Amino acid sequence: MKRNVSLDEISDGRLYGPEDMVRVGCDDCRGCSACCQNMGTSVILDPMDIFRLTKALDCDFQALLSDKVELNVVDGIILPNLKMSGVSGRCGFLSNEGRCTVHSARPGICRCFPLGRYYENGGFKYFLQIHECRKEQRSKVKVKKWLDIRDLNTYERYINDWHDYLMELEAEIEAGATDEAIKNISMAVLECIYMISYDTAEDFYPQFYQRLALCKNRLGAIAKKQP
Ligand code: SF4
Ligand code: SF4
Repeated sequence: MKRNVSLDEISDGRLYGPEDMVRVGCDDCRGCSACCQNMGTSVILDPMDIFRLTKALDCDFQALLSDKVELNVVDGIILPNLKMSGVSGRCGFLSNEGRCTVHSARPGICRCFPLGRYYENGGFKYFLQIHECRKEQRSKVKVKKWLDIRDLNTYERYINDWHDYLMELEAEIEAGATDEAIKNISMAVLECIYMISYDTAEDFYPQFYQRLALCKNRLGAIAKKQP
């Protein structure tokens, strides 16, 4: 999701890499679940998030869409996000005790928070969103420990490839794609990348790259047919 704000307004002005220490430690969020409520449609789910959630819950994407996840248009493309519901706009995975019930499979945006990703020069770094976390006295934690993601290099490469592809599609839309072409883009992304069930007993990455190629081929074939 593109944000029209300057980094200076929302961050401490620094960019962080996996080995850097950053002030995010919030004592295990004890007594707080603020960022699991009223987040609107902002917790967008990438394909690996869906892989992890369907694996943890032993369900498919359609089952997630029945209550915990919804679809919305993000910069022209339909993508899934965590659904916040009820008066306080709670994430469906938040327990009555204010704890995440899918902690080990929580989405990438939840893992990062209050860090965000800043994309530049064909890669990305992390930045600290200084107005987001409610805890005032935060301790320093190494970024890679905070993210708690196995094989972080491969994950970051995947996040970057996924981001680049979405940017490519968004550029196509912004360049004046027809309504039909915009619809084709969303359908291809949803059907090829999110809806085809992943084999959760197997590694995610090869399956993702196969689906990415499928999506690219499908959109390429549609483009060739156009006069
Ligand atoms: S998935 Fe877990 S961490 Fe993320 S918003 Fe929901 S309850 Fe919070
Ligand atoms: S606002 Fe900060 S302390 Fe509260 S739940 Fe989110 S990360 Fe944890």
